[in-house]
Amino acid sequence: MTSTGGRWARLEGAVDVEALRERHVLVVGVGSGGSTVALELAKAGVGRLTLVDPDHLEEANVVRHECDDRSLGRNKAEAVRELIRHRNPEARVEAIPLDVFALGEGLTDLVAGADLVAACTDVEPPKHLLNRTALAAGVPAVYAGVYARGVGGEVIACAAGPADPCYACVVSALKDSTSPAVEEDLDYGAIGPDGTIHRAPGLGLDVRLVALLHAKIGLSLLLGGEAPATVLLFGTAAVPGLFPRPFASALVSVAPREDCLVCGPIRADLMSAETPR
Ligand SMILES: [Zn+2]
Repeated sequence: MTSTGGRWARLEGAVDVEALRERHVLVVGVGSGGSTVALELAKAGVGRLTLVDPDHLEEANVVRHECDDRSLGRNKAEAVRELIRHRNPEARVEAIPLDVFALGEGLTDLVAGADLVAACTDVEPPKHLLNRTALAAGVPAVYAGVYARGVGGEVIACAAGPADPCYACVVSALKDSTSPAVEEDLDYGAIGPDGTIHRAPGLGLDVRLVALLHAKIGLSLLLGGEAPATVLLFGTAAVPGLFPRPFASALVSVAPREDCLVCGPIRADLMSAETPR
């Protein structure tokens, strides 16, 4: 207890440490991006984290992951929990070494009990599962992806309010508007769509740049602030049609799609529930 005041002294005035101590974030995927998101949230003072990842740390991970050689072979969620313990020993951290689809009904409870969902996997099916679950619970969620070779990435904020688009709305809007360059493989959790290790090259620092933006926007949502836009695109390199020069960024606001198969029916349910009889 004696060192606690000292630990947070440099954060006071920069962030509401007292409020963050009461917040609970569910982090799904603690690979190279998710480990940074979880660690930075804990370092900002978030008091409770639940980390979900079935994978173990392999040698090819250690040049991009927050964990190093000392955690080789360990489950990533458990290894990151250990890292957090040395940064924010007050935080309550639960590590769940399972795939998000294996949680079944438990996922509904986990999401409903969280103040924010940080989706840190590049596999699309879990993101869509989290989108449906978070929307139904009215819990904000923040998603991210790093483009192949680390040329940039995107952070998508879904505040779960009645006028906010959901992840499915955003994905379909981006598909309609962005260049084919971003339709290449994403590389955040280093897991391919088939669940095998995806060996797309990309520097750890490029992944971390996007992960830091992911954590920063998550922190804003967590404290009741607004995201700067629905989508933040950030390039570390010039990408024709997307990033005119290295270190360009863009903010994209997306409206909810009335024909969205995910949030359309949920929104309709909410509206009818709110209509006075
Ligand atoms: Zn939608």
